[in-house]
Amino acid sequence: MTDKMTPLEIMQKLISFPTVSSESNLPLVEWVEEYLGSHGIVSHRYTDPDQPKAALFAHVGPQVEGAVVLSGHTDVVPVEGQAWDSDPFTVIERDGKYFGRGTCDMKGFDALAIWALVEAQTVGVNRPLQLALSYDEEVGCTGAPPMIEAMQPILPKGSAVIVGEPSMMKAVTGHKGGYGYSTHVQGFEVHSSLVHTGVSAIMQAAKLIDWTNTTNAENWAKEPDAISGMFEPPWTTLHVGVIEGGTAQNITAKDCRFSLDMRVLPTENAASWRDAYLQRVRDVESEMQAIHPDTKIVVEQIFDVPGLKPEENGEAESLARSITGDNGSHVVSYGTEAGQFQQAGYSAVVCGPGDIAQAHQPNEYVTVAQFNAGHDFMKTLVQGLAG
Ligand SMILES: [Zn+2]
Repeated sequence: MTDKMTPLEIMQKLISFPTVSSESNLPLVEWVEEYLGSHGIVSHRYTDPDQPKAALFAHVGPQVEGAVVLSGHTDVVPVEGQAWDSDPFTVIERDGKYFGRGTCDMKGFDALAIWALVEAQTVGVNRPLQLALSYDEEVGCTGAPPMIEAMQPILPKGSAVIVGEPSMMKAVTGHKGGYGYSTHVQGFEVHSSLVHTGVSAIMQAAKLIDWTNTTNAENWAKEPDAISGMFEPPWTTLHVGVIEGGTAQNITAKDCRFSLDMRVLPTENAASWRDAYLQRVRDVESEMQAIHPDTKIVVEQIFDVPGLKPEENGEAESLARSITGDNGSHVVSYGTEAGQFQQAGYSAVVCGPGDIAQAHQPNEYVTVAQFNAGHDFMKTLVQGLAG
């Protein structure tokens, strides 16, 4: 058995692996496996079929259902183009802060979770504790769903999931869902003087984009219910962030591509928003094809992150509240893997050290105070599981 590492030592180790989403996370996963293994904890992997990445999950305590699941992602956002004052992949302590890529989002929490697992193994617990470390969170939360699916037949089902995204150790019970689409409008080129015989992909795309404006205005005008009212803004929003297309001023555009993202209230049905958009797409496409048959619109879904819906008497929420003493109600504007756990039938809450404002920034940091608060949380959690 190797020596038990402190949460800080574990965080330093995790941050030394430059697990930017575009890179492999296997060296990190291997290290975690070995460290847990040296304390008698068996890890399981879900290995991605297409890229050198894996998720890791593990269980400590009696082989029964009802575990508390500590979940985090292992990937971090890139540092290119950012002005860092120190090596992003080395933890530096200065002015009461730990600097390094991932200290806040979210290897600080991952380290605390690994510490808690070893602690639970050492002291012995009556209620099990699980660890679930994903990948590819920063590129659309695509790594957690296959991990969650892979965990279920191997580990006894957990009942309360704590996703440790930075929340200043507050219990966050809701966030909107995020859905991304890319739309390719394929028009028909003619000289612009003959515009009635051509189909400008740009002008047709404009109809779809204007639909997002109209829809936003309609949503804004709605009276929010109690849950919607917690969000800022309290309505589902649509946004077009990127557009490209066209060849020349005097040619009807053959191609126009644009991105659309939808931030859907967790109380609303994301599929019906998608269907409403696709219906508008089919209408515009018919108008295009009435002018020229060799035209079409292709829509592709780019990401799909379900919202986190505040639960009634949620087990994960009560657990986080009982440990933190936080009784406020909090929702956040960013998406997390908590909605994916909830969709798979787990009670889920977001609670982790650090402020989301520091995530993804140059000189990313978590304060020593927040990290220590996270450590206290884990100590209390493990005591409770042992009790
Ligand atoms: Zn994160």
